[in-house]
Amino acid sequence: LDPAEENLSPVEREIEKVLRPQVFEDFTGQHKILANLRIFVQAAKLRGEALDHVLLHGPPGLGKTTLSHIIANEMGVNIRITSGPVLDKPGDLAGLLTNLEEGDILFIDEIHRLSPLVEEYLYSAMEDFKIDIMLETGPNARSVQISLNPFTLVGATTRSGLLTAPLRARFGINSRLEYYDAKLLTTIVLRSAEILKTEISDEGAYEIARRSRGTPRIANALLRRTRDFAQIKGNGNIDTEIAKYALNALNVDEHGLDEMDNKILITIIDKFKGGPVGLKTIATAVGEEEGTIEEVYEPFLIQEGYIMRTSRGRECTEIAYKHLGRLKTGGNTLF
Ligand code: ADP
Repeated sequence: LDPAEENLSPVEREIEKVLRPQVFEDFTGQHKILANLRIFVQAAKLRGEALDHVLLHGPPGLGKTTLSHIIANEMGVNIRITSGPVLDKPGDLAGLLTNLEEGDILFIDEIHRLSPLVEEYLYSAMEDFKIDIMLETGPNARSVQISLNPFTLVGATTRSGLLTAPLRARFGINSRLEYYDAKLLTTIVLRSAEILKTEISDEGAYEIARRSRGTPRIANALLRRTRDFAQIKGNGNIDTEIAKYALNALNVDEHGLDEMDNKILITIIDKFKGGPVGLKTIATAVGEEEGTIEEVYEPFLIQEGYIMRTSRGRECTEIAYKHLGRLKTGGNTLF
């Protein structure tokens, strides 16, 4: 099971699969990363070698898993999918590695969550395509080295800062995915609508796109929900009006911030005078996990200029005050 999809219902998972671009051509945005990957894939194929190891980082839902599938398709190899927290012991990893065929892709999601023992085990596999395997236990225990088929490790992480230096150094290709602008997301929404056989106007697509937190996964999810509203409350077609109606009903505000985004901003402003306030304190106050706030909510709020990260904690900006219709009174300063 694709770990990125484990929170989805079976129906939603099926739809995600249908909507997922399969080749470079269908992947919208991230132009620079794509242009480079196309070259690296082409060169590796020409040489008949496995592609260099690839590290993809960036917030959830931006296309890391999708890109890994695309790389496998374009290379014409198989892809095996696992994730950091699932690989408990070196033995789990050994089982996967020894089953890889030449040039195959091993995709490890949340690679920053590998246990140190498993991570260390990965080093020689990545570097020399060799691993040590323990034979027997007790006094007869001995290890033998076995050769692996050359493979490509694609690691995905939402927290590249948590990656150890030795692991990071073993990736030849290192790409950071960025949030998508409204125009790119409009293209994605239009493509998805076509696949789902839903009539949608350009303006309706734009309305969904600009309110999707720069994230394709959210854009696709909002499209599907809007389609429901269009079917029940309208004539099945999506225009700006029905998109606005649906997004409001889904508590996505005018600027595309969702309930938790707003809760975080309101908490910092109302409970902590606009900050600075520590991440842990915010997490407790809004009832969400610290890691989720740091990986999912905060990057977008920072990029859009609602909050700042300072050495003393998180602070709301003028933009956040304006967004919530609050008056900025000076925050936690001395004056
Ligand atoms: P991540 O692995 O970064 O969390 P995914 O690759 O699972 O994100 O992407 C989430 C969904 O968003 C996918 O199912 C795919 O349909 C869609 N998606 C992501 N990036 C793009 C893109 N560039 N173009 C079209 N659809 C995309």
